[in-house]
Amino acid sequence: MDFADRIKRIPPYLFAEMERIAQEKRRAGIDLISFGIGDPDLPPPEFILDALREEAANPGNHGYSSSKGEPEFRNTVSEWMKGRFGIDVDPETEVAALIGSKEGLANMARAFINPGDHVLVPSPAYPVYANGGALLNDGVPIFMRLLEENRFLPNLETVADPHARMMFLNYPNNPTGAVSDKAFLKEAVDFASDNGIILCYDNAYSEVTYGAYKAPSIFEIDGAKDVAVEFHSCSKTFNMTGDRIAFAVGNGKLIDGLIRVKSQIDSGPSKYIQHVAMRGLRSYVGGKSPAELQKVNATYQRRAKVLMDGLQAIGVECTMPKGTFYIWAKCGGDSMEFSRKLLDVGVVATPGVGFGEHGEGYLRFSLTKPTDDIKKACERMARINA
Ligand SMILES: *Cc1c(COP(=O)(O)O)cnc(C)c1O
Repeated sequence: MDFADRIKRIPPYLFAEMERIAQEKRRAGIDLISFGIGDPDLPPPEFILDALREEAANPGNHGYSSSKGEPEFRNTVSEWMKGRFGIDVDPETEVAALIGSKEGLANMARAFINPGDHVLVPSPAYPVYANGGALLNDGVPIFMRLLEENRFLPNLETVADPHARMMFLNYPNNPTGAVSDKAFLKEAVDFASDNGIILCYDNAYSEVTYGAYKAPSIFEIDGAKDVAVEFHSCSKTFNMTGDRIAFAVGNGKLIDGLIRVKSQIDSGPSKYIQHVAMRGLRSYVGGKSPAELQKVNATYQRRAKVLMDGLQAIGVECTMPKGTFYIWAKCGGDSMEFSRKLLDVGVVATPGVGFGEHGEGYLRFSLTKPTDDIKKACERMARINA
């Protein structure tokens, strides 16, 4: 029995080695504080939990749901896009419900990538674009370097690839915490239209932002609807990563392709989860998120300050992100080596190289631990240079 070639093309999981060492240490009774996983520690807001209890108790909410999402869910998404970004999307043809945006990203590539097609993928990045998107669909990932001096935005002028058919972008960005602005988004849309490239814009962290910064939608750019699809998720917005509810909005042909693939592979997210997500989206008033969500972001912001002080104290450079719950810390040199050193003092951080070749020299810390744990971790980290 042999795996299919496309499975064998997936690069070895670089975090596996880290996990193995962490397991060993835990088994030896060593207490580890982990900033490794990008999964919120805070619970969903109480109104979401109330909605879940109610909607799950409704016997009418347990049948198959339509692959593209229930009509009322798509309507609510359309209203939310209008309120939050001022964008019109047709709930009939320009919205699809997703069982998490991860499957949406991969299935979008499945719908539009032919064997050998090039897929432009940032490096460092969320591994799904290169693996689930390009490689599992027999496409070829072509990496676009995200450099600090370019605010972790790809330099599209240097990307000249006649075989490129799709491009993934993600801002607010995992793992760098960088954000985009409309000038860059316009450049990206123009680049996609000039080169016949499908633009997949991953906006999973649009609601996890700090201070005055408000993340834009790609559709705030003229012409984006001709070339782009945008992915949103309730995972990070409402702290419901395990509930698997997200959505794609955008160009009707792209949404149609995505639904054609999905209708052969899965059925829609459960009706009760769609109803819970609808209550979440409707908690926005005049495009503004409810106090519960603002409180979560304020918590991440406080944690970020504590962790950054600790990192800077040991000479690791980092800047306050405008979005996402990650600190992208510049450790320099071999990031695997540096994370092993951290492991030795009981702290888990993700080596940047795990997000792609150009993540080398950095570590990613998730702000998904209480402040007390972060303080304790900072004390431990102070020992590594001693
Ligand atoms: C967490 C995350 C998502 C969301 O994934 P879901 O499948 O919706 O839970 C999407 N993109 C990035 C970059 C992420 O970090």
